[in-house]
Amino acid sequence: MSDKQKRLTKNFGRVVDNDQNSVTAGTRGPVLLHDVHLIEKLAHFNRERIPERVVHAKGGGAGGYFEVTNDVTKYTKAKFLSDVGKRTEVFVRFSTVGGEKGSADAERDPRGFAVKFYTEDGNYDLVGNNTPVFFIRDPLKFPDFIHTQKRNPKTNLKDANMFWDFLSLTPESLHQVTILFSDRGTPRSFRNMNGYGSHTFKWYNQDGESFWIKYHFKTDQDINNFTRQEAEQIKGVDPDSATRDLHMAIKNGDFPSWTLQVQVMPVKDAETYRFDVFDVTKVWPHGDYPVMEVGRMVLNRNPSNYFAEVEQAAFSPGNFVPGIAASPDKMLQGRLFAYHDAHRYRLGPNYHLLPVNRPKAAKALNYQRDGYMRFDNNGGDAPNYYPNSFGGPEPDIKAAEPAYDVSGKAARQNYAHPNSDFVQSGALYRKVMTDQDRSNLIGNIVTHLCNAKKEIQIRQTKIFYKADPEYGQRVADGLNINL
Ligand code: NDP
Repeated sequence: MSDKQKRLTKNFGRVVDNDQNSVTAGTRGPVLLHDVHLIEKLAHFNRERIPERVVHAKGGGAGGYFEVTNDVTKYTKAKFLSDVGKRTEVFVRFSTVGGEKGSADAERDPRGFAVKFYTEDGNYDLVGNNTPVFFIRDPLKFPDFIHTQKRNPKTNLKDANMFWDFLSLTPESLHQVTILFSDRGTPRSFRNMNGYGSHTFKWYNQDGESFWIKYHFKTDQDINNFTRQEAEQIKGVDPDSATRDLHMAIKNGDFPSWTLQVQVMPVKDAETYRFDVFDVTKVWPHGDYPVMEVGRMVLNRNPSNYFAEVEQAAFSPGNFVPGIAASPDKMLQGRLFAYHDAHRYRLGPNYHLLPVNRPKAAKALNYQRDGYMRFDNNGGDAPNYYPNSFGGPEPDIKAAEPAYDVSGKAARQNYAHPNSDFVQSGALYRKVMTDQDRSNLIGNIVTHLCNAKKEIQIRQTKIFYKADPEYGQRVADGLNINL
């Protein structure tokens, strides 16, 4: 063996003498149980799969950096946003939502847009979508909603009745449905779409002054979407079209980038604003709150191993840094719990130690110990309780979020706000879409909704009508419904 050749070993380091022939009793005899090399190899293979994400199972990811291009220190004390020109390492995962791990990238679906900033104050995760709004605004509805987007429990088939039954019984979904069934529901690639934080978040500055904000990652590659016909074709030709596009662009040095913008709202405004700013089915019209540039994100590194970095990447909207905090948006509040919980299930309680997930520019120090797959030194000989008199880590009050007022009765309550669920979808249809966008929207809806029962078609069409009579009428015409 030359010096350059490496020796193949078993998992515990013993050199393997032969990796082509199982141990048998004689040349034609059965395989022997004492071939522990064979058994180790087969047993590990049987355990290669971990549970796929119940949503966002199919995705691609890349590393890169975020660079601040505008001074936002008036609004946030987040250190990674503290200086123009400052760069922070990021890891980003893009995904579809409803499909399984092997599903096609060009499906009509929202796209996940999750960014992990490895800041010196710990990891900050901005876990958004390519849409500025969502279908529902209470996390209690989420499991039901997702069931309807997946497979019928009897047939294991996607089911237009389930899909439209739930949506037509949940009119708050209309804004997102309108975006999903526009050609933005089938982006040409991950590079050709915007990302949005979707929820309202809180920024607070050095003086403890708070602001409500909305995040917008605007693609520097331009928005580019498949038409319905193109998407249908590409799903068959290349189910991995977006994953491939991202990988090849980075491999070829054509690094995609996004400009991060925020809308900033003084906290006082939220009390009287014409829309509930914590309702994730609503945007803040740009005319009311113009966007302000924050920085630019560039993706310039393909993962060296997909499972290690992309499959094991675990994002959570609950990962904040000082200067950034949650809002009372109910969907966000549900997500603060659900993401960490999902990762503990998929990856185990020590998933935060995995290289892609652990902080890189900060050190994690606490009293949590043990658990499955604790593969660092588990705190070594340091104390494992607080308070202690042996020099263990101490909380720092300077990291506290400014205190804020809450009021009202604890109860199960709907969003009580005078504005209808149809205003913004109507504005999108009338004001933002071109004639071509509207025609494609109607065609995309009709060719999907026609697969549902007539009564469901009628119920959903009435909702389109409420957003805009022409919108409803054109869907009705396409479905041969008399409204
Ligand atoms: P503006 O004209 O100021 O903003 C319109 C926004 O719509 C732009 O950000 C644009 O994003 C986006 N847009 C353009 N075409 C489409 C499309 N076919 N589907 C979805 N979004 C599109 O108007 P308003 O702020 O008053 O918003 C009007 C409507 O636009 C909203 O009701 C909402 O449906 C939609 N919208 C609003 C956003 C917001 O944050 N205010 C964000 C995204 C959509 P781009 O610059 O990338 O083309």
